[in-house]
Amino acid sequence: MEYKFEQVKIVGGIGADDEFWRGLERGEFCLPTCASCGTWMWPAHFRCGACGAWEMQWNAIEPRGTIFTWTRSWYAFDRVSERTADVPYVSAVVEIPHAGGARVMGIYEGTDEALRIGVDVVGHILPPSEKTKGYPSIVWRPASSGPVA
Ligand SMILES: [Zn+2]
Repeated sequence: MEYKFEQVKIVGGIGADDEFWRGLERGEFCLPTCASCGTWMWPAHFRCGACGAWEMQWNAIEPRGTIFTWTRSWYAFDRVSERTADVPYVSAVVEIPHAGGARVMGIYEGTDEALRIGVDVVGHILPPSEKTKGYPSIVWRPASSGPVA
């Protein structure tokens, strides 16, 4: 089944991050800056907290960063029952230095030996799937593991 983010969009969100998901669908890792003062804004907002401007600019950037923190899920939570087969799995918060230190979550795919705070990781964009509720996703793999198809 082919999924499109727009068809399965979770109701109740403010929608400020829609361009993030559209970017992933195009195969681009995009984070916003304020169009007026250039401040990086993640999580996305509709209004810049630094200068008050309303216009955002979405920038396709290289999905690289360092692990800021991580956690291993040992339980199949009911809101993400699609991941039951993956338990236990690791979620990582990755700091993006070339995006003002923005911190972006994703699943970590790599060895336990490489799983450390501060390790360099590269994001790989996965297409929408049932597992991700029809959203595209980004997984983080250790930069030292080399390119993975
Ligand atoms: Zn601003």
